[in-house]
Amino acid sequence: MAQLTLYKCSKCGYSVYTEPQGHYALLSGRHFNFSCNHCKEIVSISAHSLSTQGFTVYCPKCDTDGSLSTWNPIDGHCPKCNGEMEVSNDLVILAD
Ligand SMILES: [Zn+2]
Ligand SMILES: [Zn+2]
Repeated sequence: MAQLTLYKCSKCGYSVYTEPQGHYALLSGRHFNFSCNHCKEIVSISAHSLSTQGFTVYCPKCDTDGSLSTWNPIDGHCPKCNGEMEVSNDLVILAD
């Protein structure tokens, strides 16, 4: 089980659930966060699907390859406007 925190952009309000490290473990395996330069979304991809895709990883939202870079809410910025991502303390969900 993972405890996911809501991170919200201080400028445009874009939000994403993740752990501060940018990766988390669910029953379906470990998930990693990526920022897509094509559709400007934060996506999470399981370690299993990363290993089956090899070096070419496709964005699960827009199906474009080569546009993903690893992302975490501490070092990373909002994919939409490059603003700071802030923790919303009151919104934590448990996922399994
Ligand atoms: Zn933003
Ligand atoms: Zn994309």
